[in-house]
Formats: sequence, C-alpha cells, structure tokens
Amino acid sequence: MNRSIPSHRRIAMLSVHSSPLGRLGSRDTGGMSVYVRSLARELGQRGHPVDIFTRHPEGRSGPCVDPLGHNVRLIQLKAGDNGYSRPADLYPHLESFFESLERFRASEALRYDLIHSHYWLSGRVGAWAQREWGVPHAVMFHTLGAAKNGAQPGEEEPPVRLRTEADLARTCHRIVAATPRERRDLQRLYGVDPQRIRVVPCGVDLDLFRPLDREVSRRKLDLDRHDAVVLFVGRFSPIKGLERLLEAAALLRDYPGLRLVIVGGEGPEAPPEPSRRAAELGIDRLTRFAGQVDHRRLPEFYSAADVLVVPSHYESFGLVCLEALACGTPVVSTAVGVMEDIIVPGETGCVLPDGSPELLARCLLGTLRGAGGNPGAREKARASVAGFSWSRVASTMLEQYTELVEEFGR
Ligand code: UDP
Repeated sequence: MNRSIPSHRRIAMLSVHSSPLGRLGSRDTGGMSVYVRSLARELGQRGHPVDIFTRHPEGRSGPCVDPLGHNVRLIQLKAGDNGYSRPADLYPHLESFFESLERFRASEALRYDLIHSHYWLSGRVGAWAQREWGVPHAVMFHTLGAAKNGAQPGEEEPPVRLRTEADLARTCHRIVAATPRERRDLQRLYGVDPQRIRVVPCGVDLDLFRPLDREVSRRKLDLDRHDAVVLFVGRFSPIKGLERLLEAAALLRDYPGLRLVIVGGEGPEAPPEPSRRAAELGIDRLTRFAGQVDHRRLPEFYSAADVLVVPSHYESFGLVCLEALACGTPVVSTAVGVMEDIIVPGETGCVLPDGSPELLARCLLGTLRGAGGNPGAREKARASVAGFSWSRVASTMLEQYTELVEEFGR
C-alpha cells in the first residue's frame, strides 16, 4: 500500500508523564520515550511538523519550547509540582495541563491535523483535544493496566487507569498496538473491535546499535575475554523480573567465568534491593550493577555480552531485544511483548514457556555453551532485525495517519 502522503500533516503528540528527553532506565522512563522521540524525528525529517507536549519535570508554569529535531518541538507544560510524580498522581493535574496546552495553541494560532497520544494519561488529554479540535485521535497505550494486573507480582494498577483505558478504547478513533499480543489483549480485556486496531511494531536505531568488536568492548568495560557475560538492561520495576535472573544466576554460579552485568536505575550507584538480594544469593562477587547507562554507550554493553536476558513478567514490546539483536547478541526471554515474533529459537536466542529460574538457568546454560561455536551467529542476529528501522516505523505510521484522516473526513 503506497498512498501519496501530503507534505504537511501537523501532528500533536502527547507524552504527558514521560519526557522524550527523560533519563532512560530510570523509574518511569524507558521505551516509550525512545519511541516518541525517534518517531517524531523521522516524521519531522519528512516534512511533517510535530509538537510533543509533555509535563515540565520541575513544575514550571510557563511553556518551555525546545527544538528536538528538524520540524520537531518539545513543549513542556506544567502538570503538578516539582520532582517525581507517580503516573496516577498526575491524573488530577491533567485538566490544567490541557488548559495550558490550549493557551499555547491559541498563542500561536495552531491547528493540528491529528493527535497521537501515548499512554493512558496522554490519552485522557487527547480525548479532550479530540472533542475541542474536531480532529482524529490515535492512541498508543504502550502498556495496558488490565494486562499488567494479570501479570505483575504484588502491584495493582489503580482503578482510574483501568476506567480511563476502557473509556479510551471505546471513544478514540484508532488504537495503535505494538504487537499482535497487545491487539489480542485489547480485544480480550477491553472488548475492542479489531477493526479499530492497527499493529505497528517498534523500531531500533540500526546506525547506533551495530556489532562492535567484542574484545575491545570487553576491555572498555573491564571484562575478561574469557568471561561468560550475561546482560540485563531495564528499569528496576518488579514487572521486569530481575529477581528471576538473580535466582537463575545463583543456580549457575559455578559456571566458569560467569559475570552478570545489570544496567538501569536512577544513577551510577547499585540499587539497594537487587544488590541486597544478589548478596543473599551469594552471587554478589559475580554481579556488577552498572547503574543507568547513556543510551549511546549501550552498543558497547550489548556487544560485550554473550547473551541479553529479558526475564519480564510483562512487556508492551521490549526494545532492548531489538537493540541486542542489532548488535549481534542473542536474547533469552520470557514470552512477553514481541519476543516470539522476533527471536528465532536456537538461532538468535530462546523464548521460555514459563519464567521459572530453573528453566531460565537451563536455557542460559545452553546459550552460553553455544556462544562462539556458531559461525555467522552475530550476522544472523543482526540480519533478523534489519526490517525494524525507525524509518520503516514512520512510513507505516504515516500510512495509518492517512487512512485515519481520510476515514475521519468521510
Ligand atoms: N535504556 C537506556 N539506559 C539504561 C537503561 C535502559 O538507554 O540505563 C533504554 C534501553 O536502551 C531501551 C529503553 O531504555 O531503549 C527501554 O525500553 P524497553 O522497551 O526495553 O522497556 P520499557 O522501559 O519500555 O519497559
């Protein structure tokens, strides 16, 4: 399908709680921020002006407007006060956020052709905008509250989130899902008509994430060339299942040269709870908490590793899987997000039928033993994600925007 796309589709992108410039790997900032900025930049490059609206992290009241790429602006508006807010705590501030957005729009006499909102909080604001502006509204949930409640240990998503998602699922014009699994969840948990859902997979920066020399990368990270390096990259949230990986590593502690490298967190220091658990399991000497790592340095980590592990209870997509494969590194993952659609078992990794530490340990053992003995494995891993560029994502999304605008016009 190759429709002609008008050169100036002005897009309002809403990402209220998580800034595309936030610190990746910290509590609430991860794949969605990468997604919003990467998609917006690609759209901007193609001549579509994109304004991304997000909350000002310090609660400043005037709008702060910054360029984020060709044709892309980041507009930070007040929603709540200074510092960290849990997503649901922002809910009462959404109306004043929308009022600020409307004042900004009026000050520049802006008219948008469509709204693309990310996560349920932005969806709420997008729903008001859809009514006031009379333009189509596409929502990407990124994660679904009801799906998280079915998967995550010991944490419940608040009822206001579930209500808002159910409401949006009925009233927005289009839902963009990142995986076929998310489309099934939307049908099963929110009764969404599949006709209103489009699946558009996420992307990866194939220029940044590429295989680097393994020995050089290891030297830079102070790892030995004979080490068996197991990598984790993600936010420290119970949903990420790090606990499972620590237990699996404890089962493998006698494996020669085993090293567990854990990336993510609020800063450079080791997080208290996982490091306490590692000590309790007797694996602290083989575990390194690398802290939050700048996105641009991650190719070094992926290239140094023998395997990336994604032990999550739930993922909306799982960008780290694409990033590792793009660097030529196999992935061992639970059956979450996009994993079964991307990982080729026995060739580029394995997908576990359940998340037990015993099974994870067994699968890791197989992958570590196979490491190095499989010529062309890195090239195969890289080739397996060649179709996942952000440019491809933008092309598909533009087709969806065009379809949506045309349908709306009718
Ligand atoms: N990330 C990063 N530095 C870190 C930890 C994570 O740049 O210290 C990035 C990682 O490269 C990936 C994103 O954060 O692009 C995490 O996305 P993913 O979809 O895997 O998980 P999410 O955060 O959306 O649950």
